[in-house]
Amino acid sequence: MSGPVDDRVESIANLASLRIDVREGRAAEVGGMGIMRVLPTKGRRLIGPWCFVDLMSPEDVANPDPMEVGPHPHIGLSTVTWLFEGEALHTDSLGSEQVIRPGELNLMTAGHGIAHAELEVRTGSQHAAADYVKGAQMWLAQPEETRHGGSSFHHHKDLPIAQMAGGEAQVLAGTFAGATSPIVSDWPVVGAELRLQSGAVEAGLDPDFEYGVVPIDRRIRVDDVIVEPGSIAIIPTGFEQLRVESEAVAGRVMVIGGKPFPDRVQMWWNFVARTREEITTAWRDWQSHNDDRFAPVQSKLLRIDAPRPFWVGDD
Ligand code: MN
Repeated sequence: MSGPVDDRVESIANLASLRIDVREGRAAEVGGMGIMRVLPTKGRRLIGPWCFVDLMSPEDVANPDPMEVGPHPHIGLSTVTWLFEGEALHTDSLGSEQVIRPGELNLMTAGHGIAHAELEVRTGSQHAAADYVKGAQMWLAQPEETRHGGSSFHHHKDLPIAQMAGGEAQVLAGTFAGATSPIVSDWPVVGAELRLQSGAVEAGLDPDFEYGVVPIDRRIRVDDVIVEPGSIAIIPTGFEQLRVESEAVAGRVMVIGGKPFPDRVQMWWNFVARTREEITTAWRDWQSHNDDRFAPVQSKLLRIDAPRPFWVGDD
C-alpha cells in the first residue's frame, strides 16, 4: 500500500471521513414491544464494539407495549441494559435474578452461549405512563479472544457521575468526562448517559475511538450537526472534543464509542458470530433444547422460538 496514487486516494478518504455523519434509525419490534433501532443502520454495522442499539421509547405514551421478552439465547456478545424509566426483572440460565432500575446497569456476557428473559415490573398504578419501561438495550460484540468462552452476568448499582458545565454524565463503560466505570470490558469501549441541563456540554474524546451520539428525547446539536431523536450521529476516529447542545430545554443523550472493531461480524436474530455456519449451529442448539449450551431460564414467559435462518434448507 504505497505509491502516489494510493496515498492520494487515502488522504481524500481520510478527509471525507473526518466529519460527523447522521443516520436515521428505524422502528422495529422486539417481543411485541415497539422499539427504535439506531444501530445497525444503513451502511454502518459497528461503532467500536457496539453492534446493536435499541431504544425502548414507546411512541404511544398513553398505551405503551409492556416489556415482556421470554427466554431467548445469545452468543458472542455482551448485552448492556440501561433504563430511563420503570423497572424490569432479568433472569438467566446462570440462575441470576435481578431487578434493574434507572441509573443501574445490567451487563450480561454470552460467550459460547447464554439465555435470558426480561419482564417489566409494574409498580404503583398500572396505568401511569411513568411505570412503563423506557431505556436502551445495547450489544457489544465480543472479540475473538473471549467470544468462545464462558458467560457471566453483573449488575452495577453505583456507576460514577461526572459533573460538567451544563449537565452531567453517568458513565456506564470506560472513561468519559474524567469519570471511569468499574465494568470490565473485552474491548476498549465507552458508554455514557449525558443529562443536559442548560446550554452545551463539552467533553474530551479519545482520538483512537469512534463514537455514536444518540439523542433520546430532544433534538440536539453535535458540534454543528443537528440530530433528531431516532437518529444517531457518528463521529469517526481523530476527534478530540465533543460538544453537545440541547435546543431550548434539558435533554437526555446516550454516547457510545470504542476502538474500531477489527472483525467483520455476522449478526442474525440474537446471535453475533463470524460465519453463517456458527449461527446455524447456535440456532440448532437452541431449537433442540441443548441444555449444555443454553440452560433453562426461570421465567413465567414463554420460551421464544428462533426463526429458521434463510440460508438453512428444510430438514
Ligand atoms: Mn436478549
